[in-house]
Amino acid sequence: MLAKLVYKKRPRPLLFYPKVLTFHKMTPEFSFSSTNYSPRRFDRLLAFFSERSIKLTPLEKTVTEKGERALAVTFDDGYGHLAHYLPPLMERFDFRPTIFVITGFIGRANSWDYTYFIRPTPHLDRKQIRVLADNGVTFGSHGHRHRDMTACSPAVLKAELVDSKKALEDIIGREVTALSYPFGRFNRRVLEEARTAGYRLAFTMDFPETADENMSLGRIPVYGFDSRLAVFQKIFRGPLYEMEKLKSTFTHRLAAGTIILNKIRSRRKLAETDKSL
Ligand SMILES: [Zn+2]
Repeated sequence: MLAKLVYKKRPRPLLFYPKVLTFHKMTPEFSFSSTNYSPRRFDRLLAFFSERSIKLTPLEKTVTEKGERALAVTFDDGYGHLAHYLPPLMERFDFRPTIFVITGFIGRANSWDYTYFIRPTPHLDRKQIRVLADNGVTFGSHGHRHRDMTACSPAVLKAELVDSKKALEDIIGREVTALSYPFGRFNRRVLEEARTAGYRLAFTMDFPETADENMSLGRIPVYGFDSRLAVFQKIFRGPLYEMEKLKSTFTHRLAAGTIILNKIRSRRKLAETDKSL
């Protein structure tokens, strides 16, 4: 009896959830931001996956098939440096990532983000988006102005969802059906409005679970300080999973700095920004 209790096999974790990685910036330059993952390290991470027979699959296929060793790569915010660093990596590892773009900041610097005050970073412009789309990158919306959608009035929320979808569709000439909630923040109202706007898949910043629905799909964040082993633990739920999850969750909470910053900006300044967008 005792032996049975001691040796009772731990239930195998259910790994059949869509495995979608989230990156943000990808530049070789030194960055104060935890969200920068250099192209060199990205290259080594993809080689690490390839050596372990982990396949990189397009986003929609990854969500539908929930394969145990299939992985999708996504980038939030649509930074301009992706136009330079992504294509050679796509060619080398034969994969099709998804980039979630903030349509109100296409071709502009990231003044919506608190790291802007340390070092401004440009976003992809229209031409770069078109070229990447023609090379196999899928594009999704990350809202029009990177607002916390749960705090938007019904009219602003609708505009964030509808305008960003249309703006992107006008650039790439195909339907946009994926959404990444800014700051990963959503509630039932945001989710329903996103569905009404025509999105079929929407992503959060929570870790994925098997029971996730298509309009609130979790993802696995990758930060600059993550080793390849840490990323592996987060995806496949190894013994260090809980610790790695805690580290990621804490880092994500720091993004709240941007929400607070936007709140303390004067009404006049916000009005000026709105007018220029
Ligand atoms: Zn974002």
